[in-house]
Amino acid sequence: MSAPAARADALAAAAEQAGVDLLLVSNAANLRWLTGFTGSNGVALVGPDGTRRFITDFRYVEQSSQQLDPLWDRRLAAQDLLGAGLGEHLPAGADGLMLGFDDANVSVKAAAALAEVVPDAISLAPAAGLVEALRQIKDAGEVERIRAAAVLADAALEAVLARGVTGRTETAVALDLEFELRRAGAEAISFEPIVAHGAHGALPHAVPRDVPIEAGTLLTIDWGAKLDGYLSDCTRTFAVGTVPDEQREVYELVLRAQEASLAAVRPGPTGREVDAVARDIIDAAGHAEHFGHGLGHGVGLEIHEAPRLSRTGTTALAAGMIVTVEPGVYVPGAYGVRIEDLAVITADGSEVLNTLPKVLRSIT
Ligand code: ZN
Ligand code: ZN
Repeated sequence: MSAPAARADALAAAAEQAGVDLLLVSNAANLRWLTGFTGSNGVALVGPDGTRRFITDFRYVEQSSQQLDPLWDRRLAAQDLLGAGLGEHLPAGADGLMLGFDDANVSVKAAAALAEVVPDAISLAPAAGLVEALRQIKDAGEVERIRAAAVLADAALEAVLARGVTGRTETAVALDLEFELRRAGAEAISFEPIVAHGAHGALPHAVPRDVPIEAGTLLTIDWGAKLDGYLSDCTRTFAVGTVPDEQREVYELVLRAQEASLAAVRPGPTGREVDAVARDIIDAAGHAEHFGHGLGHGVGLEIHEAPRLSRTGTTALAAGMIVTVEPGVYVPGAYGVRIEDLAVITADGSEVLNTLPKVLRSIT
């Protein structure tokens, strides 16, 4: 069976299990995963009865004819796809037919418009997360795309570091990295890179500043490349010159937590259990209040996907998932350390997709 057919069939089965007769897929990443469509306006209808309908407006007729497998019954509609546009293409519906929609990604306004055009015989049912659950398990082609993005991102960072960072501003280094990623062939950056040194590194989501990077500080860089729709995500913390012993010790602590939790990433444990491996090590060292975020997250067509590796992560890890493992220690007003790898879960463990070493590296 072709990949598009297998994905549509798996989704139809998930919809049936959720008690949905017809599932409306409207989120761009979900639609891309399901159909290959990369335009900005499309919806798909998938049903256990074999319905495989794709609806877009006139701007994307040609593009969708090139990107979609012939299994899709392609329809043209008005631009307002969750309103009048969709109304023309919904089946009349038997009484009690359940139309599932993505209540996590459809605005209240769009949901109201949807309710207007749905025939009376059809009831709307919230059905968020069905595609996301399937997207957690990457196929071989997806793994290779993400690996290629990670390898490209590593090389781009090395090119930037080779030019030196001391005395350049965080903003200049971040911009250099963005250019380098694009020059190396990335179609985009995964997200605005984080480049933060010294006390600014104590902010997990620090925004680069027009402040020169000083020797004697820790420098955290969090960056990624987008390649063929798929994203990478990696963080390294470097010593600019030589840093105080206390900071070096905290680096070693975070590295120990990172390696121990990475070793726990395999099919079976829940995200919460893997998160606890890193958290216990950091807590035992007296830094419990300095590790305020989750251990990691899934990565794919979006930068933060299921599953979550956090105190609330109830999903059991499974082969084919791609997750980050990124513990950190953030000492307010002083410094921060985060080390993040991207790993694919294999049959009996995991394989790290990025390639940069993790021993504390001194850069100039
Ligand atoms: Zn990151
Ligand atoms: Zn991350």
